Amino acid sequence: MFWLGTTAGESLARTVVIAAGPAAFRPRKLGVSGEAEFCGCGVAYHVAGIRRYVGRRVLIVGGGDSALDWANTLAPLAQVPLVHNLPKWQAHEESVGRMQNSAVRYGQPWELREIEGERQVQAAVIGPVGADSLERIAVDEILICIGFSTDLGPIRNWGLAIREGQIEVDWGMRTGVDGVFAAGDIATYAGKQGLIALGFGEVGLAVDSAVRATCTRSSV
Ligand SMILES: Cc1cc2nc3c(=O)[nH]c(=O)nc-3n(C[C@H](O)[C@H](O)[C@H](O)COP(=O)(O)OP(=O)(O)OC[C@H]3O[C@@H](n4cnc5c(N)ncnc54)[C@H](O)[C@@H]3O)c2cc1C
Repeated sequence: MFWLGTTAGESLARTVVIAAGPAAFRPRKLGVSGEAEFCGCGVAYHVAGIRRYVGRRVLIVGGGDSALDWANTLAPLAQVPLVHNLPKWQAHEESVGRMQNSAVRYGQPWELREIEGERQVQAAVIGPVGADSLERIAVDEILICIGFSTDLGPIRNWGLAIREGQIEVDWGMRTGVDGVFAAGDIATYAGKQGLIALGFGEVGLAVDSAVRATCTRSSV
């Protein structure tokens, strides 16, 4: 029997299926000067509402799908400079082409070195990666889209086999701890793909394994 303590209350269960996705999901930070100070005062890691950006000068940092999707979305509505610190784009080719043919001014491989302002973001110091020649540009908003990091949090301490931030399972989604199963993005096995359809299938397998296990134990 497992004791489950949650923010919604406590309960007891013979079977647990863990489907916590990538668990705690946190935006990656750049670690540049001014980033923490202006977080929420111009610096953001996701778009909470597009209206905030209309008519503003919005520096986007990143070269993946999120960065380019937002650059393409905001280009007709705002002034959008973009810096990406790698020589290669990591977004879909179509998004890259659209961005390159839009009003977005981009620097690549360029990086954001420093954020300046007074209570609110007012400027960004940017330049080619590793170079001394830097530019100070006036900006109102900085959207940092450089991905997310994941953390299993308390799940790490539940005695399960963990590999690269995921719970190891067998073909029946069994974790190795009797009565505990995992499915979806949190589960891993040889050939694992993080896809919605697979996650649904894995939950079905987990439930099937759980039912078979409880039947052999003769009580639910
Ligand atoms: C940008 C992006 C694009 C994608 N595009 C596609 C696509 O086009 N097609 C596709 O098939 N897949 C896509 N995926 C993958 C797909 O989103 C995942 O495979 C799928 O969402 C996994 O489902 P899940 O239920 O395992 O996890 P999630 O959908 O992440 O759900 C996990 C849930 O558990 C909750 N949780 C976490 N920890 C706890 C806890 N300790 N207690 C209680 N609740 C908790 C979370 O809040 C969340 O609600 C994409 C993923 C990303 C990041």
